[in-house]
Amino acid sequence: LYNNFYEVLERNAREFRKKPAYFIDDKKVTWEEVKKKVDTFARTLELLGVKKEDKIPIYVANSLEFIIAYLATQKIGAIPVPINTFLKEDEVAFIVNDVEAELMVASSKLACNIPTIRSKTKVKKIIWEGDYKDLDENNISFSEILANYEAHESIELPKLEDLAVIIYTSGTTGKPKGAMLTYKNIFSNILGVNEIVKITNKDRFIAYLPMFHSFTMTVNLLLPMYSASPVVIIRSIMPFSNIIKQTLLKRVTIFTGVPDVYSALSRAKLPFYFHWLNKVRFFISGAAPLPGEVLNRFKAKFKKAPLLEGYGLSETSPVVAVNRPELQKPGSVGPTIPGVEVKIVNDDLVEVPVGEAGEIIVKGDNVMKGYYKREDATAETIINGWLLTGDIGKVDEDGYIYILDRKKDLIISRGVNIYPREIEEVCLKFPGVKECAVVGKKDENHGEIPIAFIEPEEDVKVDVRELRKFLKSHLANYKLPKEIYIVDNLPKNATGKVLKRVLREKLEDFIN
Ligand code: ATP
Repeated sequence: LYNNFYEVLERNAREFRKKPAYFIDDKKVTWEEVKKKVDTFARTLELLGVKKEDKIPIYVANSLEFIIAYLATQKIGAIPVPINTFLKEDEVAFIVNDVEAELMVASSKLACNIPTIRSKTKVKKIIWEGDYKDLDENNISFSEILANYEAHESIELPKLEDLAVIIYTSGTTGKPKGAMLTYKNIFSNILGVNEIVKITNKDRFIAYLPMFHSFTMTVNLLLPMYSASPVVIIRSIMPFSNIIKQTLLKRVTIFTGVPDVYSALSRAKLPFYFHWLNKVRFFISGAAPLPGEVLNRFKAKFKKAPLLEGYGLSETSPVVAVNRPELQKPGSVGPTIPGVEVKIVNDDLVEVPVGEAGEIIVKGDNVMKGYYKREDATAETIINGWLLTGDIGKVDEDGYIYILDRKKDLIISRGVNIYPREIEEVCLKFPGVKECAVVGKKDENHGEIPIAFIEPEEDVKVDVRELRKFLKSHLANYKLPKEIYIVDNLPKNATGKVLKRVLREKLEDFIN
């Protein structure tokens, strides 16, 4: 057993020296090379005065440097803080201030945001990934650091219970909070997932989703490192065809994605896609609900490997549950992974009978230590070792979990609960509807009423009257959206999750 990821890297560099660790831009990087780069970078961080437990924001797009910075920071006992590269300057500044950072690693692609971030924080030094022109003592080049190998040995490495990373939740529901994950949290999650997918070093992963996200970090970077399987790094999700091309060329066996990706794949018209994905053993979907329509279309098209939906959150390192290859239930996110327990409870935290809806609470070694500097929020979220997820779900007799909705998105109309997701699933069955989001609008008589936002497929006009008729034949009257808006694009976060908060704000604007 390992205490930290550097020990895993050392093992790989020793046992799989010249074997590929990463493929990037058609180049191969071996385990031995990765270790050397991590050592060199760790040495530089120390020379720059970084101490144990210092927090280092990593504001870097997908790249090898992201991984090097992450592992080197951990090696010296400092804490990497991956930052969502889609955030606005003020949002980044909030996080940088929260962790009181004076040094950060940033991508030159994001350079335009840095003056504001610098002016609003204590950041003095930046280590730049990519080409950056105005280098000086406060603007340091990542590639120059790595140009000359520097040994960095014999230091005290972090222990299993130490803090490994702080992940700021993407904030679909409010101000970001930093989930503190220990090495033990993440290792337990890796081992739990591995018992189901049984990864070997013959497997190959692809990392095209943002590396700052907990799902990519654990499942696409740290799990493969643990099993010494190479990862194909893709710098950007666009063009999408490149992901598919690399999946084929590099013989990727584990393909992870979010529902948007599977939706796009299931709609793709090119018939030769079938052959392109031949080597894939598993498709895994997480981060947001996978609509039944998408799952069916995908299954009809890609018959060779199962698409397994899972569920998790940053606070649980992140995986809680995943469908099993031997038994998948559509609409379910599967049973918990080994080592994780789930209970469905009412508002008094009392467990409800099997099949009844309630809040999902989670216990296990994967549950975070707490929110950084937010003792109140931590005390509200972790009660007697159980993490309150804020998600509503139910469990069937086989222990398969169904996510009904987020507690915050639930619509309460005349005291009756309406699950937006149920309405969304029906809308998606209507021809020409590409995406849909249902939110609650305040209403004097009902408390709240459901409102639907519809994004049509390209060049398709959705007939709202026909859609209303269709919904009426599938849903009880009280669940019918009282207003339907056709929009070009639904607001989304980096993992393709619809930002319902933004939609609710839009509705408020309409009213006022
Ligand atoms: P915040 O917690 O600040 O609102 P976030 O929700 O985007 O941000 P994450 O930790 O990235 O933070 O996401 C976790 C949430 O994603 C879960 O609580 C759940 O609501 C949702 N989720 C993840 N997987 C699934 C899934 N398979 N089906 C439905 N919802 C899912």
